[in-house]
Amino acid sequence: MQTTLDDVQTLESRHVLQTYRRQPITFVRGKGVRLYDAQGVEYLDLLSGIGVAALGHANPGLAEAIADQARTLLHTSNLFYHPLQGQLAERLANLSGLPRAFFCNSGTEAVEACLKFARRYWYSRGEPRGEIVALDQSFHGRTIGSLSVTSDEHYRVPFAPLLTGVRFVPPNDRAALTAAVSPNTAAVIVEPIQGEGGVRPLTAAFASAVNEACEKSGALLIADEVQSGLGRTGYPFYFAALGLKPHLVSIGKALGAGVPVGAALISEEVASKIAFGDHGSTYGGNLLACRAALHFLNELVGGGLIAHVGRVGRHFEQRLRAVAAKHSIVKEVRGCGLMWGLELERDAAPVVPAALERRVVVNRTAETVVRLLPPLVLTEAEADEALSRLDGALGTL
Ligand code: PLP
Repeated sequence: MQTTLDDVQTLESRHVLQTYRRQPITFVRGKGVRLYDAQGVEYLDLLSGIGVAALGHANPGLAEAIADQARTLLHTSNLFYHPLQGQLAERLANLSGLPRAFFCNSGTEAVEACLKFARRYWYSRGEPRGEIVALDQSFHGRTIGSLSVTSDEHYRVPFAPLLTGVRFVPPNDRAALTAAVSPNTAAVIVEPIQGEGGVRPLTAAFASAVNEACEKSGALLIADEVQSGLGRTGYPFYFAALGLKPHLVSIGKALGAGVPVGAALISEEVASKIAFGDHGSTYGGNLLACRAALHFLNELVGGGLIAHVGRVGRHFEQRLRAVAAKHSIVKEVRGCGLMWGLELERDAAPVVPAALERRVVVNRTAETVVRLLPPLVLTEAEADEALSRLDGALGTL
């Protein structure tokens, strides 16, 4: 029997904690960049589950890898070795230049691990440091540590008191950053491109001021690449494109291409100060997560996906700028690769249902920004079709 949207909504309203304001659609299946609702209506997906489904939906190779792993062995815990965790850590080391990985299950856990490792580093050196410098408009996740370095009061206030000693400075304000970082700073944390904050890339000049402030004070640098990392911008990591020199990098989202997995990538200097038992996770880096992530990295590097994002990203940008130029409510177009934001002169919320009516999935963030994070496998023809639908949606405002 077909379950209607009404049935789903009624059941959820009774039993699911009401923390999400969902769009009134039930997606039941996908294929590539296409999603299908319960009635079989087809949508083009320019969001990929907030930057997760990097290989598109129902990717046959990924499905086979997951199924094969499920038939073999899914989970044994971190009390034992398995063959895949080291392989995945090595691949990530080659991609990032950071030689060690700690595996967890989400973006916020990856940030949490970076914050803990920064504290542990200073504790091991016998000079504990309690301060963190973060950026305005940052988003690092919802657990207490990550929330403490997330700037938006709306997320923070109901959960006070948060970690003390966090100072926020405006992104791309070199003077403010330099003034805030001191010999008491344990770490500076930045998103190389702020995602939830409205798709705002840091400038290379600001990145060099961050490097300088960290070098001078000894503060560790954490680059949060949960949204911008792993090919999304056409680079393996956007920190490298900016010239940032992080000691710790948080990743998540696309890493498992839909299977929940995150990681903290760690310099040898920091890793040398971490001891057995300092941190852990029951699920972190289990066989299923590692198998999915290895498959994704094979596609990203060996399969040429990063180069594809570079090419399609340039085409996407051109088309997006042409669409934006037709609508006077669009103030700015920001982004890189396949990570884009359209800053509107007004609240962007009505764009989402207008786009859904035209069968294209987009997202609004930071009140006034339409955010686009399509699957990395998007083709130029799919980009053209999806952006012409978005054009129609913007025309209704
Ligand atoms: N860090 C950044 C930059 C993010 O964009 C997000 C999520 O949007 C997170 C951390 C938190 O990730 P998760 O929702 O997987 O906990």
